[in-house]
Amino acid sequence: MKAVRGVTFDLYKGETLAIVGESGCGKSVTSQSIMRLIPNPPGKIVHGSILFRGNDLTKLKEPQMRNIRGADISMIFQDPMTALNPTITVGEQIIEGILQHESITRQEAKKKALEMLDLVGIPNPKERLKHHPHQFSGGMRQRIVIAMALVCQPEVLIADEPTTALDVTIQAQILDLFKDIQKKTGVSIILITHDLGVVAQVADRIAVMYAGKIVEAGSRREIFYNPQHPYTKGLLNSVPRLDLEGAELIPIGGTPPDLFSPPKGCPFTARCSYAMEVCDRVYPFKTYLSNEHHVDCWLQDERATKILASMK
Ligand code: SF4
Repeated sequence: MKAVRGVTFDLYKGETLAIVGESGCGKSVTSQSIMRLIPNPPGKIVHGSILFRGNDLTKLKEPQMRNIRGADISMIFQDPMTALNPTITVGEQIIEGILQHESITRQEAKKKALEMLDLVGIPNPKERLKHHPHQFSGGMRQRIVIAMALVCQPEVLIADEPTTALDVTIQAQILDLFKDIQKKTGVSIILITHDLGVVAQVADRIAVMYAGKIVEAGSRREIFYNPQHPYTKGLLNSVPRLDLEGAELIPIGGTPPDLFSPPKGCPFTARCSYAMEVCDRVYPFKTYLSNEHHVDCWLQDERATKILASMK
């Protein structure tokens, strides 16, 4: 299965890039590829490069990657309970993480752990270091996971659906925490989510994924106020609007294509009410609508008719 097919994006210092799309579109495989966490076999990165500080991460040996993971690029997963070891105190888990990457004493590591728990808003951190994960609420556990991810001051934080397992009040607190931490540390964040409400609150730029490809990308303003890909428009139309009384939700009909045999043309063809003959036959070129805003859709490309004519 080709879960990710030619995805390309940049991540700038101190920004939050949100990667959005429905389940199975390749968001998580993209982030796991950056961390080189795709189990091989059966998965593999067939070609392309992932450039970080001048190194191509796809070419590094596993011990080099181990030094980067957690120290320079960190990851937060959806469910804080599975990310923490239930049998070890949170203090031990954070300290262990620090000692793996930094040559400092245990006492210095403990001091760092305390500072980090304080930064993520855990009250009474000195006492709380001695507690096990089950002694914390879901929101507090996610704060601890965030503390563990940030304790070595990574340059990049990848957060894969970090608020999905939390209720909305806690979700809002965690998103505020992300913004606060980014302001204090300057970390760049890749936020993987299917929740456009979350994206609207924290993202600087947005990449919309569909069937293993980025089909549209742009600034938050461009994607929310001037979406151009029919799939992006469909996603936005299917979000509940509390400001429009009686407004109906418009779901996107149909299902994504089978990525065991991905279509040759635009993968959205079968679900798109604007689909043309060319769409099914050739994958659209990337069309730039501004420096940041680009879209893969024949509707935006005047070459569509020429290409079709040349095929007849
Ligand atoms: Fe629809 Fe064609 Fe655009 Fe694909 S390329 S989104 S099928 S109009």
